[in-house]
Amino acid sequence: MSGMNSSTGEIIRIAGPVVGARGLEAIRLFDVVHIGEMGLIGEVIRLTGNTAIIQVYEDTSGVRVGEPVQNTSLPLVAHLGPGLLGMVYDGLQRPLKTLADMSGDFIHRGVSASPLPEDIRWKFTPCVQIGEYVNSGDVLGSVPESQTIDHRIMVPPGQRGRVIEIRDGNFKPSEVVASIDLEGDHINGHQEITLISRWPVRRPRPVQTRLTPNRPLITGTRIIDTLFPMAKGGSAIIPGGFGTGKTVVEHSLARWAEADVVVYVGCGERGNEMTEVLEEFPTLEDPRSGAPLMERTVLIANTSNMPVAAREASIYTGITIAEYYRDMGYDVLLLADSTSRWGEALREISGRLEEMPGEEGYPAYLAARLAEFYERSGRIICLGKSGESNGGHRTGSVSVVGAVSPPGGDFSEPMTQNSMRVAGTFWALDYDLSRRRHFPAINWTRSYSLYNFNEWYSGQVASDWVELTAEAMALLQREVELLEIVQLVGPDALAEAERAVLVVARMLREDFLQQSAYHEVDRFCTLEKAYWMLRAIMTFYHCTQTALEADLPLVEIMNLAVVADIARMKELRVDEAKTTINAIMDRVRLSFSELGVD
Ligand code: ADP
Ligand code: MG
Repeated sequence: MSGMNSSTGEIIRIAGPVVGARGLEAIRLFDVVHIGEMGLIGEVIRLTGNTAIIQVYEDTSGVRVGEPVQNTSLPLVAHLGPGLLGMVYDGLQRPLKTLADMSGDFIHRGVSASPLPEDIRWKFTPCVQIGEYVNSGDVLGSVPESQTIDHRIMVPPGQRGRVIEIRDGNFKPSEVVASIDLEGDHINGHQEITLISRWPVRRPRPVQTRLTPNRPLITGTRIIDTLFPMAKGGSAIIPGGFGTGKTVVEHSLARWAEADVVVYVGCGERGNEMTEVLEEFPTLEDPRSGAPLMERTVLIANTSNMPVAAREASIYTGITIAEYYRDMGYDVLLLADSTSRWGEALREISGRLEEMPGEEGYPAYLAARLAEFYERSGRIICLGKSGESNGGHRTGSVSVVGAVSPPGGDFSEPMTQNSMRVAGTFWALDYDLSRRRHFPAINWTRSYSLYNFNEWYSGQVASDWVELTAEAMALLQREVELLEIVQLVGPDALAEAERAVLVVARMLREDFLQQSAYHEVDRFCTLEKAYWMLRAIMTFYHCTQTALEADLPLVEIMNLAVVADIARMKELRVDEAKTTINAIMDRVRLSFSELGVD
């Protein structure tokens, strides 16, 4: 970085997180620079004449006009390699060791810290041989990073050639494990491969082929998995006003969703929300593998007390890490809480730049930025061969869930609207529901999923899954209409059969859709358990319809002891759910036949 004066310039103005500099001759857009005596990290976001406009990822107070600016001539990169799992980073991928450090003013400015542990030796087992020809993305070998993740070391995108060296043994991340003779590249000659690679965070990592998402990402949250599924490799947004449960849903997904790797980006929210993650996750285990949850998790904590510009860096760093594990052939889930804080950062920076504002002061390019971000989700065929005996291709996915925090819970604002346009699933959180302590407060009339996985559910869960969920949804919609009538003309206006709809819809809401994130058992529900719960409620409904046709009064039905059994189904352990619920269904039929209905 030293030497040439073309790489050193001078600060000419400072406006909060935005700094102008001149004298940086060879500077390019998105180059990373070090600002002032402290060497704060910034990124060039605009070039006008001989002035570079820089957004600074650290607090600029105390920095003065005239101080030097150093160009690194490199873009903002993520460091990728074994040791990422279990790490907690700030937005610039600096490791935050403990939460206590986080909440204080611990991050000294201008500090650079190695993102990956440098001293650990990883056992590298090659899967190619000297003389073999390898292409971009081909697996050269792997490192057991955790109980469940075999960390594949791949030929960097854009490079190919013959393997001239490949080593077997224990290596530090920066040691060379392979060397490739770059075909036709007479300047660089050959490429040394270490366990660590770097990737510019703003650039999506290349893939072989994009595939259409073909199955749901099972989350363990009933209303999502049954009524509004998201795709494995798809995107979802979860907008909701303050306190409606965005963070709780994101935390539940981080714990229970069916992903090999989870990247959790805490973006601009209060530090105590990250505290919960940091305190709880190390105590939890992955329900599918039994391994500690942290072993499949990377946390990026860019809390509200940190500089706003770094929110953008945290989002891009997060998605780049997610793509990297995808490229190894894993299913990755990226959670961002909250994308609105990133939007606010864009608005602030844009304001400082005196750009022509778009809607509500957000920059005109807000929609494009959001689209670019969500479009980095996807199910793909990875670049390169797997290196395993079959030499076949790997597939991987990145699923993205973004929380959105519309002021006042008003979904007409630009962040919600622009995110809605690009995301495949929309989980609308509702003040009314959360006030009534109906959690998760996902509104079933406003939410939607653009994905149709009927075939998958019919094949994987039960042939009547589609019918059952459609009937449940129809009952919930009918309830809304009937409640309107009750509001207008009173409950007497309803026929007995309509009152039965209200009874069963309420059962659906309270005994099925409501799911406590804090209940030891209920917080995670399998598809099988969800299916039997729905079957039981619908069996009760069908018996009720028959009973009413036989002129039985609804009150008698509501007093059946089995109603309480239905209410307790959610507390059944997933492994006992099927048997016990089948017994409950038998009791439903028996109770009705005792009332003289068959
Ligand atoms: P937001 O992030 O939208 O501001 P939170 O996720 O922090 O809101 O949720 C606020 C509160 O709502 C939580 O502290 C909790 O008490 C309650 N809550 C939200 N979701 C659930 C849930 N699924 N089960 C139980 N309580 C919940
Ligand atoms: Mg929150």
